[in-house]
This record gives sequence, C-alpha cells and structure tokens, in this order.
Amino acid sequence: MGTMDGLTVTECERCEALCASRSQIVNGVGPADADLLFVGEGPGANEDEQGEPFVGRSGDVLDETLREVGLDRGDVRITNCVRCRPPENRDPHKQELANCRGYLESEIELVDPELVVTLGKVPGEHLLERDVAVTGEAGDVTDMTVAGGPQPVMICVHPAATLYDPSQKETFESALAKAAEFTDGESGQKRLGDF
Ligand code: URA
Repeated sequence: MGTMDGLTVTECERCEALCASRSQIVNGVGPADADLLFVGEGPGANEDEQGEPFVGRSGDVLDETLREVGLDRGDVRITNCVRCRPPENRDPHKQELANCRGYLESEIELVDPELVVTLGKVPGEHLLERDVAVTGEAGDVTDMTVAGGPQPVMICVHPAATLYDPSQKETFESALAKAAEFTDGESGQKRLGDF
C-alpha cells in the first residue's frame, strides 16, 4: 500500500508535478478511531510548510465552526484527497486524485468513521463520483460504498468559501451542526458539553 500503518504515507513518487512542488507529504491528523472524518482537497502553502491539513485561514474557520457546534478539532480526523501541495494551489488533476485514492481509501477503511464530510467541490465529486453543487447540496448525506464497505458521506462547502462569501457561513455551520448530530449519542465522539 505504501503506508506503514495504513494511515501515514512516508514516501511516494507517484505524481511528478506534486513531488516537484511539495516540501513534504501532508498526512491526516486526529484520532485513528474518530467518528467524523473531514476530507479536503489538498494541502495549501501553510499545510505544506507545517505538515498538517487545514492549519491556515481555512483551518481557523474549520476549528471555530467545530467549536460552535460543540466539537473540538482534536476529536475529529482531518485529511485531504491528495497529500502533496499542487503547484500554485491549482486543483489536483484527475490522475493525481487517482494516484492518491488508495491512501484515502485505506484511511477511511481504518478509521471507519460514522460519517465522512467532504469540504468543497473536489472531495465531494471525488467521493460521490458525480457532479456536485456544493452550496445547494450541503448537509446532504449519501450512503456510499468506499473501500468495499458502507460509508455515509456528507457534502459540505469548503471553509474558505465563508471567507469569500459571508452567506456561506450559515451553510457551513448548519452542515457541521448536522454532522455533529449525526454522530451524537453513538459510541466515542466526545462533545465539549460533556466536560
Ligand atoms: N484546503 C484544503 O482543501 N485542504 C487543506 O488542508 C487546507 C486547505
């Protein structure tokens, strides 16, 4: 598979352009048994520098909104469709998404979350395998088969969308509130209100 533990990619040379543009491989973070798994598009400049997904402005929005719905960043798992920063932050190409797909599937299979939440159009379309209108469909949950197993997947807008268009803030918040509710009452997910 190319990962030591099914979650961590330490070496990969599958994408020539991404190998040239990355400073490091950015793996997912968060508990390996998280109930919620957020999937973004790919690392940006901050993520590439720090080696962690969603640590720039988008990450701040994600962290704040998680808090608003009673969740903590440390309780959820966060990863990306591709683990290496595309040059000039362009969208990952189809072949790059395909090259990294096995790593994402392995992570989904091992974490076995109650819900996968896709952040933005690229991960939404990648996991649902169809065209997605993220704003109109945000909060919708589809029962998919991922890595041979059943996996509910929720569509959500990208946190950065709330920075460009304030009306997306509510869309983002209500999708996350619904995601929190989805996992509420089930095994493990820690809610801040419980402490
Ligand atoms: N945007 C993404 O899609 N992923 C990140 O890790 C950061 C910003």
